[in-house]
Amino acid sequence: MDNKIYRFEDGNAKQKHLLGGKGAGLTAMTQMGLPVPPGFTITTRVCREYYEKGRELPFDVWNAVLSEIKVLEEKLNKVFGSKDNPLLLSVRSGAPLSMPGMMDTILNLGLNDDTVEGLAKLTNNDRFAWDSYRRFLQSFGKVVLDVPGDLFEETIAHKKVLLAIKDDSSFTNSDLKELVNEFKNIINKNSNIPFPEDSYLQLQYCIKAVFESWNGQRAIEYRRIYNIPETLGTAVNIMAMVFGNMGMDSATGVAFTRDPSTGEKKFFGEFLANAQGEDVVAGIRTPHNIELLALDMPEAYSELLKIAQILENTNRDMQDIEFTIEKGKLFMLQTRVGKRTPMAAIKIAVDMVNEKIITKDEAVLRITCEEIEKVLHPSIDPRSKVQVIAKGLPASPGAAVGKVVFDADKAVEMVKEGYKIILVRPETTPDDVHGIYASQGVLTSRGGMTSHAAVVTRGMGKPCIVGCEEMKIDLYNRVFTTGDISVHEGDIITIEGGEGKVILGEAPLVMPELGEDFKKLLQYADEFRRLRVYANADTPDDAVKAREFGAQGIGLARTEHMFLGPDRVPIVQEMIMAHNNEERNKALLKLLKVQREDFIGILKAMDSLPVTIRLLDPPLHEFLPAVEDLAEEIRQLKIQNPESEEIIIKKNILKKAIDLKEFNPMLGWRGCRLGIVLPEIYEMQVRAIFEAAAYLVEEGYNPIVEVMHPLVGIEKEMNFLTELTHKIARETMEIEGVTLNYKVGTMIEIPRAALIADKLAEKAEFFSFGTNDLTQMTFGFSRDDAERKFIPYYLEHNILENNPFEVLDFEGVGKLMEITVKLGKNVRPNMKIGICGEHGGNPKSVEFCHRIGLDYVSCSPFRIPIARFAAAQAFLKEKAQEVSSSV
Ligand code: ADP
Ligand code: MG
Ligand code: MG
Repeated sequence: MDNKIYRFEDGNAKQKHLLGGKGAGLTAMTQMGLPVPPGFTITTRVCREYYEKGRELPFDVWNAVLSEIKVLEEKLNKVFGSKDNPLLLSVRSGAPLSMPGMMDTILNLGLNDDTVEGLAKLTNNDRFAWDSYRRFLQSFGKVVLDVPGDLFEETIAHKKVLLAIKDDSSFTNSDLKELVNEFKNIINKNSNIPFPEDSYLQLQYCIKAVFESWNGQRAIEYRRIYNIPETLGTAVNIMAMVFGNMGMDSATGVAFTRDPSTGEKKFFGEFLANAQGEDVVAGIRTPHNIELLALDMPEAYSELLKIAQILENTNRDMQDIEFTIEKGKLFMLQTRVGKRTPMAAIKIAVDMVNEKIITKDEAVLRITCEEIEKVLHPSIDPRSKVQVIAKGLPASPGAAVGKVVFDADKAVEMVKEGYKIILVRPETTPDDVHGIYASQGVLTSRGGMTSHAAVVTRGMGKPCIVGCEEMKIDLYNRVFTTGDISVHEGDIITIEGGEGKVILGEAPLVMPELGEDFKKLLQYADEFRRLRVYANADTPDDAVKAREFGAQGIGLARTEHMFLGPDRVPIVQEMIMAHNNEERNKALLKLLKVQREDFIGILKAMDSLPVTIRLLDPPLHEFLPAVEDLAEEIRQLKIQNPESEEIIIKKNILKKAIDLKEFNPMLGWRGCRLGIVLPEIYEMQVRAIFEAAAYLVEEGYNPIVEVMHPLVGIEKEMNFLTELTHKIARETMEIEGVTLNYKVGTMIEIPRAALIADKLAEKAEFFSFGTNDLTQMTFGFSRDDAERKFIPYYLEHNILENNPFEVLDFEGVGKLMEITVKLGKNVRPNMKIGICGEHGGNPKSVEFCHRIGLDYVSCSPFRIPIARFAAAQAFLKEKAQEVSSSV
């Protein structure tokens, strides 16, 4: 019977794929000498054979089952199917992975009209015997014979009404006998086969039903979603019953070795006296706190505590255990790794390191990046009841509460008045950013997971739901409707961005606690990672936040916002509109002064850490009003006052705006192309950077500057820009009399740059992959168009596996990155190479960056803990692979 049937005392508890999870747990507990009712496991191999043999239980297996029953009979001195001294069994499914849809456990198997009498006599407890019998009929009827469960429930409910009682426990013996009769009638009327009186036939049906459940609809669906192979199969566990329903000195219960919601090291659980099986979980009666067990059955309780500790120590993780107490004697029925909240997971991992149960690297590998992400956001109190009024795409996790506001300006206004708001829009554009910034969270009716709202909120770490199409927004009347519910501006809603749920009213939130445990775990992670983690931060405020989160530098400080804002735009326009060098230089001088202050702020906040500053990237027309808006303004001015001088000014701007307008701005006159044709702009920026650094050096700080040129794709571009940068650095150092610590480098965001990385490396001292643009250009996708128009279709039809703007495309973009690293390091072995695209905060992409040997990843400040963690896991996984391949 190799690999087909194992007694709990004989199996190998490590063979979970063969014994199933439950079987392995029972086997382990038995072999540790813990009190487990005797029994055996029919392995997953038999499940495969069952299907190969056309859904028949193989003969040899059935014969083996019969002889195992004999063994049980001898052990317990009872006889299966006997009228005088019956052995009763439980039959439990158990796949290698815990899976929904598998057959529910059948208890009290072996009971029939004869054996029930024997059980009553044997236990001297009529009521117990008949209660067990009716439970057996009910579950066997429902689970094995497919009789609708409601029929039994209704009969019970009806009887309670007739007898005017509330609890099952108030049924008398004769009530239970009547129920048994009624249940049998129900079964015989609603099932193809009559209820089998024969105990052996019951057992045979039951085993087959377990195997059948492996191919039930729910199980198949679940396997498909989670890619679980069908060949795995389920095991069947058959064991002697123990009875928690033999009176008030008996009980059944569930316990966790630590608190599964907080992780606190405290025995946690519930029990019910005089009860069986699922009574505790099913909520038929309210179970008692496990602490009461210490008073009711002190001996059993202290043994349970001791066993729980042993189980946790040997399994080296928090355990979820099931037990039953029969007349004061404790039996263990299950143990498995307990499910827990992300917060509890972190606490338990850190505590277990302190308790020397696990090592630091195990602690890091036990937590998932998703869990880290979840604890960084507030969530809805799981105990609360909420009214979900719509569902959309879960674009950015976390929960937020606020008043509904339909436009960005109003949002800012309301926030100034002290309200918390949720910005609700059909979709958002860069014009809404101030409103997004002011909001607690964003809800849009259109857009996908990578729409503007989704990307911006994720960067800000704010909850967001997009593509909530059931929500019909009426901007004119300032109301949205879902179904027959209307929500007006000013009404309060809650959004749950991790699940995409829109909730009416204020749901109670629980705040994340970035407690000591979280910081500890990140410290462990830091001990293992090789990748450094930088932040993308444009302002001193962001830089301070980034440092708090553990950033080791800034990988991308974009300078475009230094050209924006009400105080800057007029100067920039002055520069753009300049008729001659003199006018242009005047404007540039003004910009130099303000940008120098900006750079001082950032460099000071990041003192002694590298700050990568990217020079101006967007095309100039972005600093002018849109052509259509200008035309409209001019039209209005003409109506008000045809003589107005402003008309002439506006007309000039309009002319320039038309002049600068491009067919395809993404591929147009932007980045270093602008910096080369109009070098005054980059010269101004570089000067502002070095003057800021020089100032700080004189003040006793230690600024580390990396000047990064965007959109380089030609060797001579790099040569020109490097020269420009060095020249100004030299000038500044000479004038200020200081030495500056700086590097010149380039983004790699054009495929051509990747392919000539060796040439660029002659001049560039560092590379940073701008994977947003690099992905756009490698695929030839304009991101906004692609995400709105066809990426959702591609994902749905498996043309793309992931959105390449979210998860780095290893195959294509990744290959360009590998080429870059190889070519670059050939020329400049110590070249510093990193990534500053949004992918830098995506765990899978971080792992890829680790594998190809980058030096750092840079991401938004809120994602730094995730990146630190992902980098450590990448390192540890790689190490584990090396070990296993060298064995
Ligand atoms: P699940 O996978 O749904 O937890 P289980 O097989 O663990 O299913 O059990 C269902 C219930 O039956 C549990 O409360 C368990 O403790 C109880 N049970 C299982 N086997 C026995 C047994 N031999 N004697 C008494 N109760 C049992
Ligand atoms: Mg269980
Ligand atoms: Mg770019």
